[in-house]
Amino acid sequence: MIDSISKSLSSIKKISFSVLDDGFIRLIDWMGSDESIVQAARVSYGSGTKKISEDRALIRYLMRQKHTSPFEMCEIKLHVRVPMDCWRQWIRHRTANVNEYSTRYSIAIDAAKTTKPNEWRMQAKHNRQGSNGFLENTVGRHLSLREQEIQKACREVYQERINLGVAREQARKDLPLSTYTEAYWKIDLHNLLHFLELRMSPMAQYEIRQYANVIGNNIVKKWVPLAWEAFLDYRLNSLTLSSEEIKITRMLINNEINQALNIMMKNRMIVKANNKWKKTVESQEFEQKLKVMGIQIPWDNKA
Ligand SMILES: Cc1cc2nc3c(=O)[nH]c(=O)nc-3n(C[C@H](O)[C@H](O)[C@H](O)COP(=O)(O)OP(=O)(O)OC[C@H]3O[C@@H](n4cnc5c(N)ncnc54)[C@H](O)[C@@H]3O)c2cc1C
Repeated sequence: MIDSISKSLSSIKKISFSVLDDGFIRLIDWMGSDESIVQAARVSYGSGTKKISEDRALIRYLMRQKHTSPFEMCEIKLHVRVPMDCWRQWIRHRTANVNEYSTRYSIAIDAAKTTKPNEWRMQAKHNRQGSNGFLENTVGRHLSLREQEIQKACREVYQERINLGVAREQARKDLPLSTYTEAYWKIDLHNLLHFLELRMSPMAQYEIRQYANVIGNNIVKKWVPLAWEAFLDYRLNSLTLSSEEIKITRMLINNEINQALNIMMKNRMIVKANNKWKKTVESQEFEQKLKVMGIQIPWDNKA
């Protein structure tokens, strides 16, 4: 098993997985496997547990119980090429070791993330951090043209400064955030899964989500298939319910709609204004959970 995983990872080592229009992820190196997680866990539980804890079951138990340190026995090193605005989100994950391309030392990478006319997303109405739907193509064409103009102008000004002898550390200051950067990024599996949970989520921005999806589905899935399966089951695709949400869900299942609504109102998850239910962000998130569980949302018809 380990041999076949090792072969499969070796075959993707140094292959560039394309992301966005000019970005990539390359697997540089890795240490450990599902077996390393199991080995580490058995040190803490002792050989007495071996019978009940066949590898898959043990990894799933560790994931469920948030016994995280065995997952830190595995590490991975990636080479990534990312637009700077996306990198700005990425670099917030402090538990990785990073070496980034230096625009003090070298000429800035001559590539910027471009946006096709049909890719301009509209501001979401309810989620201030999110987007929803796309702008019309005619508007999109205008925006893409303007993007092209500004990226070209910024690069020309940068190049002019370099040609006139301005230090690279200063010449770079007006480069747009769409400029690509590159980095070596090394992280252990525990912290990588935390990164993937946050950045594969639909709540994460589209661009970083594309990178996270590639890391998860093209690399981690092959590297530690048992841990990946457990991660999908117990973290990425799982739901967390607050104590109030549990109460309301139980009432909805028992068809106690008015009691459920009362709790929602008491907690200001929904408020009635002008004979209409106004939903808070929390209640919208709760609705998503109910949809996933196949439970009908009754308050929409109650206004
Ligand atoms: C959808 C979304 C929206 C976001 N919006 C914003 C925003 O508007 N503004 C903004 O500034 N950021 C924003 N962030 C970034 C977010 O607040 C985190 O900084 C980022 O996701 C990194 O998460 P982390 O700290 O858990 O990860 P890591 O830095 O990888 O840390 C992993 C874990 O290690 C522990 N840890 C690491 N360092 C410390 C420390 N110094 N002290 C204590 N514990 C530590 C924590 O338990 C942490 O969860 C957003 C993130 C997401 C996913």
